Amino acid sequence: MHRPPTAITARTWMNTRVRVLNVTYEDFDVVPAARAVVLLNEELAITLVEHTPRFVVRSQHVAIPLPHTIQLLEYVHTPPRPAIDDDARASFAAVLARDHHRCAYCGQPGARTVDHVFPKSRGGGDHYGNLVAACSDCNGRKADRTPEEADMPLLWVPRAPRTDQKRQQAIWRELAPTT
Ligand SMILES: [Zn+2]
Repeated sequence: MHRPPTAITARTWMNTRVRVLNVTYEDFDVVPAARAVVLLNEELAITLVEHTPRFVVRSQHVAIPLPHTIQLLEYVHTPPRPAIDDDARASFAAVLARDHHRCAYCGQPGARTVDHVFPKSRGGGDHYGNLVAACSDCNGRKADRTPEEADMPLLWVPRAPRTDQKRQQAIWRELAPTT
């Protein structure tokens, strides 16, 4: 399916997100466009790929083409994995965020419910390794069964989230504070 790209305006460019690669070209993070523009303006990063369609971010002192992907000019250490393990208790909101609201059974976006992989009614716990985002259809169909019993294989293995968002944000604040 081809969707025409949405035009960017002076109002909407800040809602876009920009991929950041480390100086080694390793994936580093995805940041709000405003932060990416600060990084470019302060010459901490360069643009690898411009946003399509093209849009130039203008303020009093800068005119920077909105980027799609930027690269840091100095190596920034990736934050270490957090001390969260798969058995850690998870909130439903954290599970939906981890799975980007994609149903773990059918892969559809927009999932609003959380399923206990091993059913809660049979002792399944509220931890990262046992919770997945699920659409209400799949959640209802699976009911009090395991994925094997329901013949509904998981599309991925649920785990504790890997990146420590707070730590990552602290690094960004230090590197390139936006107001
Ligand atoms: Zn589903």
